[in-house]
Amino acid sequence: MQECTTVKELGKQIYVLRLGHRPQRDRRVTTHVALVARAFGALGMYIAEVKDENIKKSIMKVVERWGGKYFEVIDGVDPIKTISHFKGENSCIIHLTMYGILIDRVIKEIIEKCKKILVIVGAEKVERIYYELANYNVAIGNQPHSEVSALALFLDRLWQGHEMNICFPDAKYYIVPSARGKVVKHVHRS
Ligand code: SAM
Repeated sequence: MQECTTVKELGKQIYVLRLGHRPQRDRRVTTHVALVARAFGALGMYIAEVKDENIKKSIMKVVERWGGKYFEVIDGVDPIKTISHFKGENSCIIHLTMYGILIDRVIKEIIEKCKKILVIVGAEKVERIYYELANYNVAIGNQPHSEVSALALFLDRLWQGHEMNICFPDAKYYIVPSARGKVVKHVHRS
């Protein structure tokens, strides 16, 4: 395997809190939020208020093949309690919103201060309380786009590109980058 960075080596604990998930409408987008979270170095995703076994199953299938067994999807959580459990020294609540402060203005401070981060992303309208509970309301540009892109760009700025080279030591398969075609290696463990 080429040189790579494990999630542990990235050196921070990141969780995502997904608000406003509507199982029929948002299943694909919420699954993509979780895929981005796992692929770019988070340890898990909380889904506020509702339960959705389908999302957990799809993510666990990815984890089974591509690694990251620690990654958890915890559904049906009380979002306010989740936020208060998370608060503490060196931890930060970061709400991604187009109304927030541009990422370039706060990312240096976030990198320096926050060892544990709960990243909040919404679906539809996000209630006022989350703007108040957040330590940082961060905009990935001040135009509306998507929770998937907002999370990916936030994590990329946080890790300063190191997440591109992430690897999962418990993976059954890994990819060898190739200019054409697909090169996938199977890891044989005794
Ligand atoms: N109008 C909604 C609101 O009041 O927040 C936007 C909903 S948007 C479809 C879903 C989520 O994507 C938002 O809650 C936010 O987390 C994220 N998002 C969308 N655009 C963003 C941006 N420019 N910066 C940061 N996050 C963004």
